[in-house]
Amino acid sequence: NQDYSAFVALSRDELLARLEAQLSAGRFAHVQRVEQTAIRLAQQYGADVQRAGLAGLVHDYAKQRSDAEFKQIIRQQQFDPELLTANNGIWHGVVGAYLIEHELGIHDQQVLNAVRRHTIGAVEMTALDKIIFVADFIEPGRDFPNVEQARAAANESLDAGVRFEIINTLKFLIAKQVNIYPKTIDTYNAWVAGRA
Ligand code: GDP
Ligand code: FE
Ligand code: FE
Ligand code: FE
Repeated sequence: NQDYSAFVALSRDELLARLEAQLSAGRFAHVQRVEQTAIRLAQQYGADVQRAGLAGLVHDYAKQRSDAEFKQIIRQQQFDPELLTANNGIWHGVVGAYLIEHELGIHDQQVLNAVRRHTIGAVEMTALDKIIFVADFIEPGRDFPNVEQARAAANESLDAGVRFEIINTLKFLIAKQVNIYPKTIDTYNAWVAGRA
């Protein structure tokens, strides 16, 4: 179940040690709950259980890096300059995948894409992308007003889970009056109306 040796040279125990060194205790516990939730969803929906567990475990690896480090990587690696207008919420996934590849040695593009897409989703998402996006939102430690509805939606279908989550995330961001990253709106449009 939690044998990730097809995708990474580090053992699961070594991965856990790397994550623990990078993350607060609460965040370290969260990534382990996302790992378990992603495995469960992959079993439920017939997706790749190993990739789901691994992507769930590492998805927030870069969450506690500084803004300065993210900006430096965006410039140095010539990522889309639009990324410079974003913040940690976006960077730890989209740019975090780069750190996961280079520091943890995970080169599997399906796993890296699921990490890239875990915060803002995407117009087109694979089953693995949907699983990580949803597992992050419904893991058992989450406690927000609509979380039980989100869990019910995820139990109905992965698509229903994604749709519920992106609608709720947009509502939440608008209520907070924060800047919405353009690709977040693209995801919303695609999943709410069924097209981009
Ligand atoms: P976490 O890393 O497990 O806490 O969860 P996520 O990776 O799903 O989300 C990280 C943060 O990014 C959350 O606080 C989201 O509300 C926030 N976020 C998602 N999309 C956007 C966006 O378009 N704009 C802004 N400002 N924040 C966003
Ligand atoms: Fe995250
Ligand atoms: Fe999320
Ligand atoms: Fe997370």
